[in-house]
Amino acid sequence: MGEKKTDYIIHPEVHWVHVGNDRLQLRQPNGDNVTFDKHVLEIANILNFFKQPSNKLETINEDIFTPLTELLISKGFLISKKEMSSFQFERIADLHPNKNIKYKENRLPKSVSIIGEGILHNLIKNSLLEAKIKINESDNPNSLKLVITDSDDYLLLNKENEKAIKRNQLVLFFRWSNGLFKIGPFVTPGETACLECATQREIASNLFPDEMNAYLNSNVTDLPKYQGGPVLDNLASSIITRQVLLILRGDYDVLGTSSILTVDPLLLKFKHSPILRLPKCKVCSSKEQQPSKNYHNLLLETHLNN
Ligand SMILES: [Zn+2]
Repeated sequence: MGEKKTDYIIHPEVHWVHVGNDRLQLRQPNGDNVTFDKHVLEIANILNFFKQPSNKLETINEDIFTPLTELLISKGFLISKKEMSSFQFERIADLHPNKNIKYKENRLPKSVSIIGEGILHNLIKNSLLEAKIKINESDNPNSLKLVITDSDDYLLLNKENEKAIKRNQLVLFFRWSNGLFKIGPFVTPGETACLECATQREIASNLFPDEMNAYLNSNVTDLPKYQGGPVLDNLASSIITRQVLLILRGDYDVLGTSSILTVDPLLLKFKHSPILRLPKCKVCSSKEQQPSKNYHNLLLETHLNN
């Protein structure tokens, strides 16, 4: 430990139980628990110290203290107070077993540009600000573009999809569609399926492709619009803030890339529909980039987790 002992604290989601006098188990939300059956009293003493540093460490047995703290740090059970997130959601994400599998650091955006207008747009902007996410007002290509519409405004969604692919900008779509929230796809240009890939695949698998085409070409003013209220507003804010936080952290394995998430607010059902890149997509396949190895690994992890 380079830092002082008192700079560390037991992760607030981790707790421990004693089974009799000879077993101690450290428990965390994802079930990756650690059981000790030796030196139980000394270990409990050290854990108590890190939970409440006003508890004095009476005698330190370095042979136990050093390997124990190393183990706790490697598991994320013992964290630096300086690095601890102020949000419980992020602290839980920090405990995820794949927390070290991150998307390419150099490509991660630091801020979000919000495109669109209407109720959802305003709602989500406030929610992101509350989560201390930086909003970029000038749609900087290094920011994450978030396209939000109160209805299936395909004209706007497609236009923003094309623009993002051309600028090589990460983009996430969020819209209200037939009484459901649709989140995604989250597009990393050159690597994952774009909105056009998703739309074409949806048309191809639809039993009524002509009707679907007519729907996509409807005048946006005729389509049902998001009106919101209790339940819907909070649900929308929560889902999108979760997605954005995970994208900015690079936690693509928990995020689930290359899919559209449909949320039914009435039945509280979440459906993940995986989408593949169309080899001949008119929007995204002109770039002759191959999916990166890093991305393949993440996809693999995503499948293992789902
Ligand atoms: Zn595409």
